Amino acid sequence: MDTELRFVVDVNVGRLAKWLRVMGYDTLFPKENGDNQLVRIALMENRVLVTRDAEIARRPDARTGQMEETLIEKDDLRSQLRQLVRDLELDLPSGFSRCVRCNEPLRPIVKQDFVDRLPTYVVLTQPKFFECQECRRVNWPGTDWTNMMSELSQVYREAS
Ligand SMILES: [Zn+2]
Repeated sequence: MDTELRFVVDVNVGRLAKWLRVMGYDTLFPKENGDNQLVRIALMENRVLVTRDAEIARRPDARTGQMEETLIEKDDLRSQLRQLVRDLELDLPSGFSRCVRCNEPLRPIVKQDFVDRLPTYVVLTQPKFFECQECRRVNWPGTDWTNMMSELSQVYREAS
């Protein structure tokens, strides 16, 4: 994976924030989602701005030549993901690495230490667990994750 790439996502393509995090990319989805704020974050933190708003790129502050952005063309999620994968040459995620809620890296944990906090069937069926250092939630690559991965592998096939 190209770990250099980091993102800031506009509210008009907000669903992509979750997917980019699932792919392991450091992705901000600011609550203050105005154009000023988005451009400022993209420039200050050297993040690729992901948006559907062509006007943003025409702003004087965005035209310093420093700001990188991806202008998403289509409405449906699948096409949007395909465009990101194709345009930015994103790699398939290698693992379960980032908290989808808060964007923080996940830390592998020893299952035995967390048994009290986990449902029994999960303890019995899942081999690997991870803790988010921000929200402290224990995560595991369960059904949601598996479904997103199979969706992503189709997207990658279509994009290549
Ligand atoms: Zn978290």
